[in-house]
Amino acid sequence: PPDTASLGRSTWTFLHTTASYYPSNPTETHRSKITNLLESLSIFYPCSWCAKDFQKDIRQNPPEVKNREDFMRWLCERHNTVNKKLGKPLFDCSIKNLDKRWKDGPED
Ligand code: FAD
Repeated sequence: PPDTASLGRSTWTFLHTTASYYPSNPTETHRSKITNLLESLSIFYPCSWCAKDFQKDIRQNPPEVKNREDFMRWLCERHNTVNKKLGKPLFDCSIKNLDKRWKDGPED
């Protein structure tokens, strides 16, 4: 793909923001739809080697979508798996830190 980095930044922005606004008490439909979205993303993500590793990662660590906090933490861990692979610093996955970055407003 022409720009893996900006595709990645945009996709993480979408995913973490979506997780921040995911319900605290999701319905069965919410849970299955968000799981579908994540599985579909792992198939269609337009960076083939990224998609392949992401598929493998979510097969080993299935989406935790029973409430907002679980989903946020699960996603943060998936992002940290990619960070580790790329030699980037790991992110603090506490809800306080995630809300500060993705719900209350960005710093960068
Ligand atoms: P990004 O990693 O894009 O992060 C954006 C912002 O998110 C950061 O500035 C920080 O504020 C915040 N953040 C960082 N870590 C976390 C976290 N754990 N939880 C919450 N917020 C966080 N690139 C490759 O080169 N190879 C790959 O195999 C690859 N796989 C990818 C798989 C997926 C599913 C996605 C969405 C992206 C993938 N990317 C991959 C892109 C890569 O993750 C980065 O998006 C890209 O390298 C740009 O990095 P960045 O330093 O701008 O910050």
